[in-house]
Amino acid sequence: MSEAIEIYDERMRALVSPTASLQKIADGARHSEGPVYIPKDDCLVWSDVKANCLFRWSATEGVSVMLEPSQYQNGHALDLEGRLVACSQGERAIVRREHNGMWHVLVDRYQGKRLNSPNDLVVKRDGTIWFTDPPYGINELDQGYGGEQEQPGSFVYRFDPATGEIDAVVTDLTRPNGLAFSPDESLMYVSDSASYNIPNGAHHICVYEVVDGRRVTNGRVFAVIEPGYADGFRVDEHGNVFSTSKDSVQVYAPDGTRLGKIPVPETCSNLTFGGQEGNRLFVTLGKSVYAIDLNTRGMQQP
Ligand code: MG
Repeated sequence: MSEAIEIYDERMRALVSPTASLQKIADGARHSEGPVYIPKDDCLVWSDVKANCLFRWSATEGVSVMLEPSQYQNGHALDLEGRLVACSQGERAIVRREHNGMWHVLVDRYQGKRLNSPNDLVVKRDGTIWFTDPPYGINELDQGYGGEQEQPGSFVYRFDPATGEIDAVVTDLTRPNGLAFSPDESLMYVSDSASYNIPNGAHHICVYEVVDGRRVTNGRVFAVIEPGYADGFRVDEHGNVFSTSKDSVQVYAPDGTRLGKIPVPETCSNLTFGGQEGNRLFVTLGKSVYAIDLNTRGMQQP
């Protein structure tokens, strides 16, 4: 079903076999997003944001509903204890699933005002949660419960669940969306998906240098994503960036060179590495979830 993998740079050949192909593992969703792989259960969890539902898939058990309503959860990650942490666009908060299965709000305010609608997040090795906060969950009527924007912009935040401290670390993007660290966490990448509904808006991934493990500096454009824009993306063990776009998963070397493309049948929203070896790439598209085996492993888990 899938088109051939496109190779623009020889480095691509080491990352994915030319004969690797996408396998569909789920379909029938309205807007699949926010996938995370859970090693101890060998399963994938992801959001159907517009259906207000959280799904789970494993090879042995297939697809099941994990949480409904999901309060319009979007991005997911695992914390250092293996607990699910999620961006709740409905609650306008970062939430965590405790070991007893109960979800609770970790943070929903910055400087006394409500967050917009957290979209995607990553857990750093020190346990801090870094997340983006565009307003899609309050401006798009099928992605949240609506409401007024209280923050003066769409920021990237660093939140420390141990202390409750929250800081805005990036304030100069229009619609920060996906984010990831480089393997040594010296760099942070953030996508800006402004072109989704802003004429001439940005459609690129920026990269920042991380200072003292808690703030960033020297932001610059890492890659302009075409066609479409980058929603979610991840970094592999070698520092290569695997990004979503309108027509494909696009692969960029740490120097910003586009190495190749893995065509996909629908616009892809997000992706994550998983599988027992960490080399399986799960991709959420509009209605579907696909998987493809790679020759490289992900670095997103602490
Ligand atoms: Mg997103």
